[in-house]
Amino acid sequence: MIVVVGSINRDIVVTTSRLPRPGETVLGDGYFEAPGGKGANQAVAAARLGADVKFLGCVGNDDAGRWLLDGLRDEGVDASRVLVDPDTPSGGAVIIVDDKAENIIVGLPGANGRVTVQDSWLPVIAAADVVLVQLEIPFDAVVAAAEAAIGTVILNPAPVHGFPSPSAGGLPARLSAVVDITIPNSTEAEQLGDIAVPTTIVTLGSAGAEIRTASSSRLVPAPSIAAKDTTGAGDAFCGAIAAALDRGADLGEAVVEAVHAGALSTTAPGARTAMPTRAELEAFLATGRTSPRL
Ligand code: ADP
Repeated sequence: MIVVVGSINRDIVVTTSRLPRPGETVLGDGYFEAPGGKGANQAVAAARLGADVKFLGCVGNDDAGRWLLDGLRDEGVDASRVLVDPDTPSGGAVIIVDDKAENIIVGLPGANGRVTVQDSWLPVIAAADVVLVQLEIPFDAVVAAAEAAIGTVILNPAPVHGFPSPSAGGLPARLSAVVDITIPNSTEAEQLGDIAVPTTIVTLGSAGAEIRTASSSRLVPAPSIAAKDTTGAGDAFCGAIAAALDRGADLGEAVVEAVHAGALSTTAPGARTAMPTRAELEAFLATGRTSPRL
């Protein structure tokens, strides 16, 4: 069983032919709402691959929060222990995108900023085979979740400004003491410098991922694919690693599955749209072809 302790967002996306300048009004030509948050996205990625996933986080007592929790339940993620904060709106982002795919984003942490590890969560976290965390909730909650874990702890150190004092000195000691695997992308790996945990998997976009341990490093190439939108590729990758390790796969096998899951997730717009199911991933691994749906 996988426990994700992390963020959940409702993103509001407006499309327009060009971005407004400060003080200017432009007319948009489209509007949609999309579920997001690295924590919730990674939980969904693992659940689609067949894993038993519990999500622990916080939403507001609002329509966005109810919509987000319904969305998790529809994906088969257990959201029954998510906190509902009566005083804070659900987290989200306002995203304006122009027709060249340039964007302006204002993120609103909202209820994600209220996550604290509850006593009632401790046995749930301790019972998990894999605990997956990111940095879109308060740092103390990330540390408390990692410390409560008995199973494998995976940290996706994103965004790196989620650390209390960003520096190239590796992970804060409170985390490196309890984290087993970190999964940064190449920018995050560069910003973090030497990450002193047993295993680091650096994702490298279309190049795949590199597995680094104290004694070795090995590149696992990504399959070549016609990428349409890479938003959420890292989340698909992290969810797939968690799902594979939870199933008992070894690390090498997990990374091969994850580079394929990450690649598949880029074949349609949006973070979650193209995150593969177990059947889609298995078909892609076996044949190198994506299904017609994608
Ligand atoms: P992030 O989204 O966090 O920046 P990456 O861009 O490194 O992460 O992507 C994560 C994984 O998704 C990669 O390791 C790779 O497996 C897959 N991926 C991303 N972009 C592509 C692409 N253009 N072609 C094939 N695979 C990709």
